[in-house]
Amino acid sequence: MTMNEKAPIIQLGNPILRQKAIWVTNIDDQQIQKLIDDLIVTVSQANGVGIAAPQVAESWRLFIVASRPNSRYPHAPEMEPTAMINPQIIAYSSEVVKGWEGCLSVPGIRGLVPRYQAIVIEYTDRHGKLEKQVLTDFVARIFQHEYDHLEGKVFLDRVESTEELMTEAEYQQRVVIADEKVEDN
Ligand code: ZN
Repeated sequence: MTMNEKAPIIQLGNPILRQKAIWVTNIDDQQIQKLIDDLIVTVSQANGVGIAAPQVAESWRLFIVASRPNSRYPHAPEMEPTAMINPQIIAYSSEVVKGWEGCLSVPGIRGLVPRYQAIVIEYTDRHGKLEKQVLTDFVARIFQHEYDHLEGKVFLDRVESTEELMTEAEYQQRVVIADEKVEDN
């Protein structure tokens, strides 16, 4: 079979999610290229906007940023799924913004997480080219969330109060519907 299949996503409690991931030295390696393809399929099937390799039990420093509107994030901006290998944050804004996050490895829970509003990042793409970009707002948030996975962190570690946690069902009712009302104005 050459078709890419959805890789099983590991969940909170699995110690792999708490490991620091390893630098990718050979991007051309077939296993790394296949991992990238698998992650792109997996994030799309799971209605995610990003996924990091450790979430499928592959502890490499690589993740996919794939912002697009879907049922879990109806207001996400649209972009091509992008593999970011050995990513780094070079600089960040003084402005920090709080926003609701969820995680495919922490199903059913949302949390209000402070993140830098803008970041300057560097990563190697899947063809081995070094990229430097400025990311802002929601896409900057995705990058910081996925980067945390490479450091063995999850969004729950950054929530400032347990009162800023919600179940997915409450989030869909309260936050998504509230946002839609604001956008109607
Ligand atoms: Zn996550």
